[in-house]
Amino acid sequence: MKIDSEYTQATLARLVQINSINPTLAPGAPGEREIADFIAASLRSIGLSAEIFEPEPGRPSVLGRLAGTGGGRSLMLNAHCDTVDVPGMAEPFSGALRDGKIYGRGAFDMKGSLAAGMAGAKALVDSGTRLRGDLLIAAVADEEYGSLGTTDLIRRVKVDGAIVTEPTALEVCLAHKGYLWIEIEITGRAAHGSKFEQGIDANMKMGLFLARLSLLERDLRARTPHPLVGPPSLHAALLSGGSGLSTYAASSKVQIERRTIPGETEQQAVGEIQAIVDGLTAEDPDFRATVRPFFVRNPFEVAPDAAIVQAVDAAVAKVRGKAPAHFGDTPWMDAALLQEAGVETVVCGATGAGAHADVEWVDLNSVIELAEILAEAAVIYCS
Ligand SMILES: [Zn+2]
Repeated sequence: MKIDSEYTQATLARLVQINSINPTLAPGAPGEREIADFIAASLRSIGLSAEIFEPEPGRPSVLGRLAGTGGGRSLMLNAHCDTVDVPGMAEPFSGALRDGKIYGRGAFDMKGSLAAGMAGAKALVDSGTRLRGDLLIAAVADEEYGSLGTTDLIRRVKVDGAIVTEPTALEVCLAHKGYLWIEIEITGRAAHGSKFEQGIDANMKMGLFLARLSLLERDLRARTPHPLVGPPSLHAALLSGGSGLSTYAASSKVQIERRTIPGETEQQAVGEIQAIVDGLTAEDPDFRATVRPFFVRNPFEVAPDAAIVQAVDAAVAKVRGKAPAHFGDTPWMDAALLQEAGVETVVCGATGAGAHADVEWVDLNSVIELAEILAEAAVIYCS
């Protein structure tokens, strides 16, 4: 399949030049409005239809569609078009090409892969290929914070398979970890600092809790690791307690992040923390605590013999002459939301470096190869 490399490079450069910093991460940042308008216009210009959905003002996502002839599986290429902030970057919006690399915020994470999906769709149109199932190009908002875009699109469109094109150096990612945020509040009793017989020191009780929690933390890492993503883990990310030097602390809070692996559930992970609290409550009549999970992102895993994985494997082999490696990654991605919604999902994206760092670049050749891989995968999957 012939990829229009000029279109690919020009589109990628423009995507990088448009500031699409996530405004929830950086208050006052522009968000996805301008980039969504550009993507929709570009998709229409290459022969796709395009709709813009805006579940929250200023946070649009684009859904391009190359309609199939009917009867085949539908496929979504999913890329986020928001980025993290740019402090410390010398050229955040240059989109400059040097030594085969395109530079700028989001080039690698993940406007390169977004451009590849668009260029792959263009190659299908240009070659006159008629797919039986629909090919959808989803350029989604807010992946870097709350995944507004993918969450909204899942409700609107029914699709059989998805390729999330987060960068993987053209290898194939079959699993990633999830995470869970849990707050534990320990309640003491406020009293004048001189009145030890009246006060219950919540911060001291927190010390007891943290000592037990560190045993659990060690135990998690000693468990049988998931073959692709390793063992689960946790850390005591945020601590606060007490109201003044001469006052017994009436409250002490810790917010824990628990990283989960495929096969673990929220209930199980919260239950392990609750068991620590229950044990301490049984031992100490003054120990009072509540456990409150307040945010969950589930882990992701797809079977290597799923049709979507087979299609991407075959496409990579055709384009690159060798089968891709299968691996697992640790950061959470939108792939988990799609898979949970019953869409078989795999992750395959471009090559580069510097996600969320001061110098970010994507390898232009890998973007062009990815475009061809995505087009071939659509031919296999949607036929
Ligand atoms: Zn990303």
